[in-house]
Amino acid sequence: MIYANPNTAGAVVEFKPQYENFIGGEWVPPVKGQYFDNITPITGEAFTRIPKSTPEDIELALDAAHAAKDAWGKTSPAHRAQVLNAIADRIEENLEKIAVAETWENGKAVRETLNADIPLAVDHFRYFASAIRTQEGFSSQINEDTIAYHFQEPLGVVGQIIPWNFPILMATWKLAPALAAGNCVVLKPAEQTPASILYVVELIQDLLPPGVLNIVNGFGAEVGKALATNKRISKIAFTGSTAVGRLIMQYATENIIPVTLELGGKSPNIFFPDIMEADDDFLDKAVEGFVMFALNSGEVCTCPSRALIHESIYDEFMKRVLERVKAIKIGNPLDTETMMGAQNSNEQYQKIISYLKIGKEEGAEVLAGGDVNDLGEEFANGFYIQPTVFKGTNDMRVFQEEIFGPVVAVTTFKDFDEAIKIANDTDYGLGAGVWSRHGDTAYKAGRAIQAGRVWTNTYHQYPAAAAFGGYKMSGIGRENHKMMLDSYQQTKNLLVSYAEKPQ
Ligand code: NAD
Repeated sequence: MIYANPNTAGAVVEFKPQYENFIGGEWVPPVKGQYFDNITPITGEAFTRIPKSTPEDIELALDAAHAAKDAWGKTSPAHRAQVLNAIADRIEENLEKIAVAETWENGKAVRETLNADIPLAVDHFRYFASAIRTQEGFSSQINEDTIAYHFQEPLGVVGQIIPWNFPILMATWKLAPALAAGNCVVLKPAEQTPASILYVVELIQDLLPPGVLNIVNGFGAEVGKALATNKRISKIAFTGSTAVGRLIMQYATENIIPVTLELGGKSPNIFFPDIMEADDDFLDKAVEGFVMFALNSGEVCTCPSRALIHESIYDEFMKRVLERVKAIKIGNPLDTETMMGAQNSNEQYQKIISYLKIGKEEGAEVLAGGDVNDLGEEFANGFYIQPTVFKGTNDMRVFQEEIFGPVVAVTTFKDFDEAIKIANDTDYGLGAGVWSRHGDTAYKAGRAIQAGRVWTNTYHQYPAAAAFGGYKMSGIGRENHKMMLDSYQQTKNLLVSYAEKPQ
């Protein structure tokens, strides 16, 4: 089916012509009264206006968050779990609308938002609703009369800054554990994709007390920096580029606050020779694992953007892969048949085009794609790229630099050690894939690759219960998994003597 464009006849989604910041439970215009156009990458049209906030708006949001923090921090885990479950239910009830809203704003295929992004967000709220209820403090007996009690307390008010590639899921990954742990939040969406988050906030706003969740919109250097440098936050959580991540860490150093960073990647996907001996079903699965480089139009920090294939299976395996790549249906992102939609912004589109040129200039062979994609007049101002497969060597820029588009660079290896050496020859360490039916090969490769997540005989699964985060320059700290609650809490120790006399 093809969804109608939002704000047109028969559309499931209506965006407001203009949004405001969400502060203290109210929709508040930016102090300086400035707005910017939000553009859909599907057609290149502006569809709503977003506050171009300034540091004054961050201060208002922090006032509201601080006013709310004591009461929210003292609510019971059972109460917060109830609120998170209610948010999950509300998102689920509106899943189709939210999926279309996100596709319209981000450009990714609606079959992904319908079947992955939004259902994952729903599950994430439910997971942290459960996790907070099962959290337990602990006590230690120092001696017969002296006990050390340990309590987990919220940090207070936390700042969160997110990117544009999974607007709602990235917001959820940050909000669910922070709210579950009893914190109040000021969140800044990416300037490219604020409307889908504001759309969700409109749907859930009655479920949270005023000031617990605050959204301030605008640009990174202006409001992102004003939030991350602010002395009134107790933590800053960031997902985005490594360059900005480095700045965020510097800001946090000034205030001596904890920071979690989810940054870039250049993930290796290794195909060991034994996969050719497997049955057709498994081989198909491995081919699908390769083609995951085009998921979310390649705009994923864990995009399997380097494929390492054993030289003995290269010809046969790549024949299957290239047939599959040719079958990727690129088109209108609002069509549920479409497998790959638009790139998120003109800036991102131009960046990918420049890398297609760089790859060709440095001598990489183009095995598939290599150009922009013409979808006809209706989409002439949208941002469409062909899924591209380069062949080359790991020293090339298209193997080393994050392109953040539907581009994979393929190379071969001779043996296990060479595969691991190439896999680890990168500044990044976020994700990786290993394909082998031999348990020992898969296990040893998984342990040897320097990356926070190694998918084994699968790729691009994001369950709430599995820890996610980077080694090396891909970041600090983890998201998902109940361990994440620790990142939003601090430990209070009461050391109590019950002795009647001095000891
Ligand atoms: P970006 O770093 O430019 O922007 C991310 C966010 O930071 C935006 O909200 C932006 O407004 C804000 N920002 C920019 N400058 C800032 C500053 N000086 N102070 C505070 N905030 C600032 O990145 P992007 O272009 O939006 O996203 C693409 C990058 O994000 C890619 O490199 C990708 O790998 C990475 N990413 C990583 C993950 C992950 O989970 N590790 C997920 C998604 C994206």
